[in-house]
Amino acid sequence: MNFATNHEGQLTIGGIAASQLAHTFQTPLYVYDVGAIRHQIRAFKQVFETAGVAYAVSYASKAFATIAMYEVAKAEAIHVDVVSGGELYTAQAADFPMEKVSFHGNNKSKAELEQALDAGVGTIIVDNFHELDLLDELLKAAVGKQNVLIRVAPGISAHTHAYDQTGQTDSKFGFDLESGQADEAAKRILADDHLNLLGIHAHIGSQIFEVAGFEAVTQKLLAVLDHWHQQFSFTPKVLNVGGGFGIAYTKQDDPLPPEAFVQAIVTTLKTQSHGFNWPLPAVWIEPGRSIVGPAGYSLYTVGSRKDVPGLRPYVAVDGGMGDNIRPALYQAQYTAVVADHPTAQPTEHVHLVGKYCESGDILIDDAPLPATQPGDVVAVFDTGAYGYSMASNYNRNPRPAVVFVEDGQAQLVVTRETYADLIQHDQHYTAPSQPAPTSTATTAAKK
Ligand SMILES: *Cc1c(COP(=O)(O)O)cnc(C)c1O
Repeated sequence: MNFATNHEGQLTIGGIAASQLAHTFQTPLYVYDVGAIRHQIRAFKQVFETAGVAYAVSYASKAFATIAMYEVAKAEAIHVDVVSGGELYTAQAADFPMEKVSFHGNNKSKAELEQALDAGVGTIIVDNFHELDLLDELLKAAVGKQNVLIRVAPGISAHTHAYDQTGQTDSKFGFDLESGQADEAAKRILADDHLNLLGIHAHIGSQIFEVAGFEAVTQKLLAVLDHWHQQFSFTPKVLNVGGGFGIAYTKQDDPLPPEAFVQAIVTTLKTQSHGFNWPLPAVWIEPGRSIVGPAGYSLYTVGSRKDVPGLRPYVAVDGGMGDNIRPALYQAQYTAVVADHPTAQPTEHVHLVGKYCESGDILIDDAPLPATQPGDVVAVFDTGAYGYSMASNYNRNPRPAVVFVEDGQAQLVVTRETYADLIQHDQHYTAPSQPAPTSTATTAAKK
C-alpha cells in the first residue's frame, strides 16, 4: 500500500501524523485526505479533456455523503448522483448546484420525486414505468421539461474479475432491453410534453478490475442509442456508463488506475460510433468508491487481546462493524498498520476485531502486525467508501467523527455522536391504562 510518513517514521495523512489526529479527535475516527479526493477527480477529467470528449464526472455520493463532501465536489465543479431524498437533502444543505445532480433509484417515492422537482435537479434517471406514471402526475401543471435518462439493464454484469454478457438481465434496476421495455420507455418519454430525454444509463457493478465490461456496455448502449435514433429520430446527448471502477484494498488486489477505465470507454466510443449519422454524445461516468475509497482511513485504539494456545490471537479495537460493515457484509479485505510505525516488520498474524456483540465483527481476519499494546493507534487503509455511509448505531455505539485533512490542516466535518444523540428520537412508553375487570364479557366474546 502507498502511504506517507514523517521524519519520525509515523503514518501521516494530508501532512499530519495519524496518531496526532487520533489524539486530537479521539477514536474511532474517519479521516479523509482531501488532496487525494481532488487528485482522483482531476485524473478522471484529464482523460476526457485529452481525448476531446464532452463529459460529466458524477460522483456517486452514496459512497460517502456529507455536507463537506458535496462541498468538495462543488469546488471541483463535478456532478453528483443521489439515490434518496436524504442524500438530496444533504446536497441541498451544502448548496450544491442542483442542475448538476442526477437522481437515481429503483423505487423513488412520490415525495422524493416531488422534492427533486422542487429542488430543480438536473437529471432524473428513470428506472421503471411506475416512476414515469408518478412523474406524469407531478409534472401535469409544470412549465418546461425535466431532463431524464433511461436506465437500462444492459444484460452485462461485472463481478470484480470477470464480466458476464448475459447476466444481470434479472436485476431490480432499470428497463429490460431484451423484451423491448426500454424501447417502450423511450417512445413514451419522447412523446411526453413534460420530459426531455437526454440519453441512456447503465451501471454494471462495483469493484470491477477489468476494462472489458465497460467496453462491452459502452458498445451495447451506443447500439441502443443508434437504434433509437433510427426508430424515433432521437438525437442522444448523453451516454452514461455508470461507475464501479475497482480499487486496491490489499497487496493482492492489482487494479488499473481508475483513469484507465475511462480511457477504455472513450476509445470504445470513438471506434464504435463510426457510421452513426448523429453527433458523439457526452460521456457521463459515476465513480463513487474510486474517488473516496483510497482517500479514507479509519483510526482505532487497541484495547483487549485474547491469546489461545495454538490459535491466532484476537486483537480488539474500539470500533468495528458499526463503523465498517463491509468485512461482515461481503468478506471485504483490508490492510492495517500501527500508526506510529507503519513500516515495522509484522511479527504475528492476528484477528483484528471490533467491540460489537457479534462473532462476525471482524475488521481483518488475518492481519500481519508488529506487537501491539493497549493504547496503540491502528490505521486501516482505504475505508473512505461505504464505511461512514453504511455506519450504524448497533449496540448503541455512537458513530465516529469525520475529519478532513489537507495541506497539514485538520477540520472536523462530522462531529462524533453523543449518547444524547442516540436517544433523541426515543419516546417513553406509557402502557394503556387497564380497563377495570368488571365483567367476563370481553373474554367471552373472544371465544
Ligand atoms: C453505486 C453506484 C455507482 C458507484 O459505484 P462505485 O462502485 O462506488 O464506483 C454508480 N452508479 C450507480 C447507478 C450506482 O448505483
